[in-house]
Amino acid sequence: MKSISTYDFKGKRALIRVDFNVPIDKATLQVTDDTRIRAAIPTIKKVLEGGGSVVLMSHLGRPKNIPEDRYSMKNCIAIIEKYLGLKIQFATDCIGDRAFEQSASLKQGEVLLLENLRFHQREEKGDVGYAELLSKHGDCYINDAFGTAHRAHASTTIIARFFPNDKMFGYLIEKEIDSVNQVLESDKKPLTAIVGGAKVSSKITIINKLLDKVDNLIIGGGMAYTFVKAQGGKVGKSLVEDDHIKTALEIIDQAKKKNVNLVLPVDTIWADEFSEAAKTGEGKIGEIPDGWMGLDIATDSIKLFNQVILNSKLILWNGPMGVFEMEKFQKGTLEIAKAVAEATKQGAFSLVGGGDSVAAVNKFGLDKHVSHVSTGGGAMLEYLEGIQLPGIAAIIND
Ligand code: AMP
Repeated sequence: MKSISTYDFKGKRALIRVDFNVPIDKATLQVTDDTRIRAAIPTIKKVLEGGGSVVLMSHLGRPKNIPEDRYSMKNCIAIIEKYLGLKIQFATDCIGDRAFEQSASLKQGEVLLLENLRFHQREEKGDVGYAELLSKHGDCYINDAFGTAHRAHASTTIIARFFPNDKMFGYLIEKEIDSVNQVLESDKKPLTAIVGGAKVSSKITIINKLLDKVDNLIIGGGMAYTFVKAQGGKVGKSLVEDDHIKTALEIIDQAKKKNVNLVLPVDTIWADEFSEAAKTGEGKIGEIPDGWMGLDIATDSIKLFNQVILNSKLILWNGPMGVFEMEKFQKGTLEIAKAVAEATKQGAFSLVGGGDSVAAVNKFGLDKHVSHVSTGGGAMLEYLEGIQLPGIAAIIND
């Protein structure tokens, strides 16, 4: 396998699959969060500084297979130019004669951005012909899009076969893989996983996988109420998956058998409605009055979780502790984020992944205070579950 650190880019056109799937303001068509673009800059600069030229390709949003202004990669040009400090070129279609002429005439140090790959249905279908056409844009292929590495799309996976000796990961994917491997392979202890978010059902596979690895498993967020009900607690009208009560009991049982310290919330902030304007109260989690719902963890749970987190050497966090999007119910998630940051300061390695926990640490400005924030929620979870991601396999396997 080739490495971006040692590959000779002199005189070469590098075709880079980036993840520029950034949020765009519908009215102004401005990028509202440029984290993903910023994250790709080191890879692009490496090629340019090594004497090569760059063709960038990405998808943006969920277009219905036809060009739409709000999903045009054009919306990213200003930000890319700002971070690279140079003017870039743009191809209004990612394939076609004009685009191929543009990439063929790129000079050393120049950058061409291709229009949204998903303006063609063939991208998500993993169409071989489409991948082959795209491959004509480069002498070598770099995959730096971790967020789509779990999809066998044309530009993320299929295309690699057209570069048998000239394919590699970008710096961003390298860092993602390295961070997840640190959690999977490290023997640092105690290892604590914090799993939150809405539902047990969407996290069962990862929880089962984690039970074989972790010393402590903290469960918070909406999913906690299914566990509380399973143990006979009163949960009012909190979010509960009745068809997963059995799953919760099995997880409790497995944790005991595997000697995992399963830590559930002991108290909760309850509300009379799912709204910022709700009336609220605080009390024991198994004693939620009828007609009220638990929307955040409360004082004693925060203390309990913090103790465990501050004693950990490896921390993996996926999913918020409450409805952190509403100010009234954000405290639990904020306090846990602070504890993870504090543990990191004391030498623990912390990995935060999964859309909403990433949004939470960003919202609280704590993203720089954890060891790694994964850019790919689904991809990170699948990798942790031990699934071989097609985009990664396509680079590793010859
Ligand atoms: P997930 O995508 O499964 O990680 O779930 C994230 C979502 O779970 C966030 O939008 C939170 O607002 C929501 N959530 C967290 N705690 C609760 C709760 N107690 N009740 C309802 N939703 C919750």
